[in-house]
Amino acid sequence: QFDGNVASDAPMLVAVRLRPLWIKEVEAGDYSVVSVLESKVIVVVDPWYDADLNPNRSKEKKYAFDMVFNEHIGQENVYEETVKGLVNGVLDGYNASVFAYGATGAGKTHTMLGSLESPGVMVNTLHDLYSRMNVFQEAKFKVTLSYMEIYNERIKDLLMPTSIDLQLNEDPVRGMVVQGITEYGADSADEILELLHRGNLYRTVEPTAANQVSSRSHAVLQVTIEQSEATAHVTGNVRVGKLSMVDLAGSERASKTDNTGQRLKEGANINRSLLALGNCITALADKNRKGHVPFRDSKMTRLLKDSLGGNCRTVMIANISPSHRQFEETINTLKYANRAKNL
Ligand code: ADP
Ligand code: MG
Repeated sequence: QFDGNVASDAPMLVAVRLRPLWIKEVEAGDYSVVSVLESKVIVVVDPWYDADLNPNRSKEKKYAFDMVFNEHIGQENVYEETVKGLVNGVLDGYNASVFAYGATGAGKTHTMLGSLESPGVMVNTLHDLYSRMNVFQEAKFKVTLSYMEIYNERIKDLLMPTSIDLQLNEDPVRGMVVQGITEYGADSADEILELLHRGNLYRTVEPTAANQVSSRSHAVLQVTIEQSEATAHVTGNVRVGKLSMVDLAGSERASKTDNTGQRLKEGANINRSLLALGNCITALADKNRKGHVPFRDSKMTRLLKDSLGGNCRTVMIANISPSHRQFEETINTLKYANRAKNL
């Protein structure tokens, strides 16, 4: 039921995407410490390595993943090698989830949303979903989109930004439901691009010491596809598949910014959702687990309870910067992604 150029049928595909150095960074003296081998291996050179000071520290770290994209790989390619493999499953009624993980500035929003000229995974997925639905003439599909933000453990409707602090409910048929969220019925993918960009403007963005525009919110696009047989008047099989695509908040540590008060609380909450997500993935990956997956620990993991593990497939795209100044963040990101590999 799954296709695309996905390496395996494993429930979790972990990819790493390296962005190019910005001209501004080159001008500021940044240099790349990251290279990609054979689209599978990431090599990171420690810019602070000193054999005399630290003989036990290694100069180079290597990590292997299902897929590694170097700085020249474009949006369509990233989509085709990763999320494209989930689309048929969603049309068949399976849930799936996609995450962009990484520090602020590493390329998460570029990967997920992209720009109008160079659309990312969200838009490429929708285009593909619509074109495949048109192929299946005999079945009738209903597509609805919801776009929300999780910020400080509160859910805000990005398509109706006056709706804040929406509550989560578990429905026996539909799974996790965000009460009162806009369910946008789109007939084609074309109208969606602009809709998402408009929604993104409503994301909460706070200035912090580490970054002028650091995104401390998670953005979640959920696409629900209901399929019913178009033949006769029999209300027979209805299959529902849900695809959740998440542009996660920056993974940089709260300790790195000189946060106080409000920001500190945000930092704690961001870490809570990222930490909870990591813990759920680790628990699901542990084949000998006693059965407990801590979905209840954060809003993000509660929302995605019906889309992680079980029959659900997951794609994680870890985004990294090549800059030597981001060495620590890059290593942290690769370690987080590495934990997900066993799922
Ligand atoms: P994040 O969402 O992780 O904070 P962004 O996606 O906003 O980071 O990326 C920061 C900047 O780098 C943006 O201007 C974006 O266009 C650029 N960028 C990120 N990834 C790439 C890439 N693979 N190729 C070209 N530009 C990129
Ligand atoms: Mg972003």
